[in-house]
Amino acid sequence: MSQPMLQLKNFGKNFGAHVALADVNIEVQEGEFLFLIGPSGCGKTTLLRMIGGYETPTFGEIVIAGKVMNDVPLEQRNIGMVFQNYALFPHRTVWQNVEFGLRMRKLPKDERNERIQEALDMVELGGLGDRYPRQLSGGQRQRVALARVIAIRPDILLLDEPLANLDRRLRDIMQVELKVLQHKLGITSIYVTHDQDEALTMADRIAVIDKGRLLQIGTPDEIYNSPKTTFVAEFLGDATSMKATSLAPSEDGQCRASLELDPTVEILFDTDLDIPEGQPLSLSFRPERIQVAPPSSSKMNRLSGSIEFVSYFGSHVFYELKIGSEDIILKVKESIPNGHQKHRVGETLEIGIESRHIIATKD
Ligand code: ATP
Repeated sequence: MSQPMLQLKNFGKNFGAHVALADVNIEVQEGEFLFLIGPSGCGKTTLLRMIGGYETPTFGEIVIAGKVMNDVPLEQRNIGMVFQNYALFPHRTVWQNVEFGLRMRKLPKDERNERIQEALDMVELGGLGDRYPRQLSGGQRQRVALARVIAIRPDILLLDEPLANLDRRLRDIMQVELKVLQHKLGITSIYVTHDQDEALTMADRIAVIDKGRLLQIGTPDEIYNSPKTTFVAEFLGDATSMKATSLAPSEDGQCRASLELDPTVEILFDTDLDIPEGQPLSLSFRPERIQVAPPSSSKMNRLSGSIEFVSYFGSHVFYELKIGSEDIILKVKESIPNGHQKHRVGETLEIGIESRHIIATKD
């Protein structure tokens, strides 16, 4: 594999006695779109700011294109950052906003003009160079902020919740635009967000951080379908998690666990983990993997519970079922003709989940 564009080695940051980040090891390949996601205060922004040079690491090394950058100041790091609040100059036109960074880099006028035009065309604002930020929509302002960074042709593009100030509809549109643009430009990009859907739909890889620790890094598919901890399973996508204890495998090698319900229920599951008998486990179920009135199959786990709550969403219905003392959520694709619900509160529902769709974690 070629040399990574960015390497963080045992990277960390203390603020006084507070450990904001510890032992972060990440490699980002050239052109890759990496997302940092985690709850508020987990250290995402601190990590991004250290890559940009706005903050110095307390531990470890940052290597960009093979060169150790710990002591290289921000202005010598050819890195572009897009902020949540856009940080545009209100009294400069769109053109002048984009030009600012190029002037700072002392580029000659011809080259500046060429790069500004190219960057504005990229974000489809080619004709709006004379406007002021106040004369633009939120989405257009965000695109100016992007153009300004694209124009400097950074080695790495950092984005700190760049779409958080936009309404839901515009955010959905901009997510697609940004992903297409990032791919077209091929700039190595790192994007901080709270929004799990944004990460799942846009990322090449996602790094999940909690309490200053990198819990898992992988493709959206790996993170969603093979989370390594219960926290990751519950943070990305919906999941119901229940406590269980592993049992000896069946004769044909099928993993088994006893779910702590009253009475206990034996569950078959598939896993790559090495799990000894008697190990406490967490078993997580994705709502869309649960089937109502499941067909018979040797790999099917069957449960039944009473419906506590029904929420109708047009193309699908969410049911909350009480099974023993636990609640489990299921998402079923069904439409409700003429307002007649198929299943009602209080009704008993037979559900099934295949062993391959059960996520087992040991924490
Ligand atoms: P959010 O999603 O809310 O922006 P975050 O994941 O980006 O959160 P950070 O801003 O990186 O979190 O903060 C990580 C931790 O470090 C927090 O506990 C925060 O209070 C602390 N912290 C951040 N900056 C400083 C600072 N300059 N001085 C002291 N503590 C700080």
